[in-house]
Amino acid sequence: MDITLLGTGCPAVHTERYGAGQLIRHSEIGDGAQGETQILIDCGSGVTQRLVGAGSSGAKLDAILLTHLHSDHVIDVYQVIVSAWHQGRTTPQRIFGPTGTRKFIEGLMAVWREELDLRIKHERRPSTEALEMDITEVKAGERLEFGDVVVDVIAVDHQPIDPAFGFIFSVAGTKIALSGDTTYCPALIEASQGVDLLVHEVFVHREMHVVEGVRSAETIEAVAGYHTLSDEVGKVATQAGVGCLLLTHIVPPDSNRDDLLAEVKKSFTGPVLVGEDLMRVDPVSKTVSYGAARLSYA
Ligand SMILES: [Zn+2]
Ligand SMILES: [Zn+2]
Repeated sequence: MDITLLGTGCPAVHTERYGAGQLIRHSEIGDGAQGETQILIDCGSGVTQRLVGAGSSGAKLDAILLTHLHSDHVIDVYQVIVSAWHQGRTTPQRIFGPTGTRKFIEGLMAVWREELDLRIKHERRPSTEALEMDITEVKAGERLEFGDVVVDVIAVDHQPIDPAFGFIFSVAGTKIALSGDTTYCPALIEASQGVDLLVHEVFVHREMHVVEGVRSAETIEAVAGYHTLSDEVGKVATQAGVGCLLLTHIVPPDSNRDDLLAEVKKSFTGPVLVGEDLMRVDPVSKTVSYGAARLSYA
């Protein structure tokens, strides 16, 4: 089992850090082989392009999990659905998310119904099954299974967004925890004890400046209030005793990487990776793939 960061950004538009998205892949046989499980978590802006860039596509997904219904995590849900149909998908998309997911997805499909019906009629593709939705609303504490991959749903603290989830993915003793969007969250630390890899969001306070007409000091404090600060996230990793910390959902997306790494290293002595779009991390072999580079953190 490994994880690919599809988008490491946030609502702020950035050309290197796209909107939130991660891909979990697990294969008993090997990459691309039959029996591979692929789970997409969140559908931020640009996720369909990043899926293809990662060697996947909406047609290959076993499930889509939504951490919460903030726009930067769901804005491209429809794009995933309709492009999967164009990519030859022949089964309904299975979508799992918090309460409100059904209303959101059904509303989204209703908005596009007229255009979609015209397209279906005109394009005469062999199947329209990919445009059927299989929606499941889940609650914190639930356990989901996709092939060999077990997913535990964790309640995180992203008030006033409630519920908001983190997820723990487990296969044969290997665990990857994904924070979703959360402030410092004891429940997540508890659930992440000893995981091989913690993929965690981060808010870099010193990089957020008041911009006349864009954001006030109050805006910055409000946004900081429901995220995990860069001087806290290393402590989270230490308290959870994780094997490696991978940072994503980097706010603001143009935060200085060297400063962020140096700050987080102060409170976590294990490996820290500042995530990039299309970075793939395998916590079993402790390998990072980024572009043509292969790095070991063992
Ligand atoms: Zn959020
Ligand atoms: Zn977010």
